[in-house]
Amino acid sequence: MLIIGSHVNYKKDSGLLGCVETSLYYGANTFMFYTGAPQNTMRSTIDINNVEKALEKMQENNIDIENVIVHAPYIINLANTEKYDFAVSFLKAEIKRCEQLKIKYLVLHPGSHVGLGLEVAICNISTGLNEVLRNSKVTILLETMAGKGSEVGKDFEELQMIIEKIENKSKIGICMDTCHLNDAGYDVANFDEVLREFDKIIGLQYLKCIHINDSKNKISSHKDRHENIGFGEIGFPSLIQIIYHEKLKDVPKILETPYVGEHAPYKEEIRMIKEKKFDEGLLDKIISTL
Ligand code: FE
Ligand code: FE
Ligand code: ZN
Repeated sequence: MLIIGSHVNYKKDSGLLGCVETSLYYGANTFMFYTGAPQNTMRSTIDINNVEKALEKMQENNIDIENVIVHAPYIINLANTEKYDFAVSFLKAEIKRCEQLKIKYLVLHPGSHVGLGLEVAICNISTGLNEVLRNSKVTILLETMAGKGSEVGKDFEELQMIIEKIENKSKIGICMDTCHLNDAGYDVANFDEVLREFDKIIGLQYLKCIHINDSKNKISSHKDRHENIGFGEIGFPSLIQIIYHEKLKDVPKILETPYVGEHAPYKEEIRMIKEKKFDEGLLDKIISTL
C-alpha cells in the first residue's frame, strides 16, 4: 500500500491530534511535522492526553505511527562548532519530545561546515550524533542535501562517512529528498540507478523516508527550491515512478511542496498522485479559488 502524506503544521493547542485531522483531510495515511516553528527552537510542552487521542484516531484510520516523521528545525547545525553545544542539547530535548509523541523517526539536516571543511564537519556531526543517540529510542534520519553553500550530505559518500562513525547503527538512517537529489546532481529520472548507487555506498536498509518534491531548478543547480508535483524540472512521470517504485513500497513518502498563495496544496497533490494523472491546470484552479 502507498504510504503518503505531507508536511503538516503542529500547533500548540491542537497538537498531534490536529496533525492527524489535517492529514486525514488531505487523504494522507502518514505525515511529517516540526514540533514548533522550523526556523526557531521555541517548543511547547507536550500534552499526553492529546497524544493518546491522536493515537486512537490514527488507529481508527489505519495510520501507523511508525510511518510518522518529525523534522528537526533547520537552524540546528552539528557541523560547525559555533552553536554546537546548543545544537546537541536541543536535539536531546527533541528526541525526548519524539519519545513522548511515540514518534520513531527524526529527520535532520547534517549541517553546513561554514569554512571548517568537510572532514572536520563530519567528525563534529558524528560526535554530536553519538552523544544524542545514546539511550535514544528515536532513529535520526540524515537528509540528502542539495549542496547549497557548504552543506554536508550532498552525496551518498558524505552521508556514508557520517554513518561509518556512528556507534549504534540501528539508530541512524537516511531520508532522501527528490528535489535535493536533483539539485545535487543525481538523475532522478533514472531512479533504479540512483537506488543502485545508494545501495552500493550506504545500503538500502538505511532508507526510511523520502521527501517527494519537484524542483524549480535543473539538475546540479545546488539551489534547493521546491516546486509543486509535476510543475518543475523533475516532472510528474519521474516522480510517479519514484513514488510507486517496488523497492520503496514500505518507505513513507512526504510532500514538502510550496503553498499556492496561502493554500496548502496537499489534498490536491495527493489526489493527483493516487490517480497517477497530472493535472496541468491544478495551480491555476487553486489560485482562482483563493
Ligand atoms: Fe529537510
Ligand atoms: Fe526535504
Ligand atoms: Zn529542501
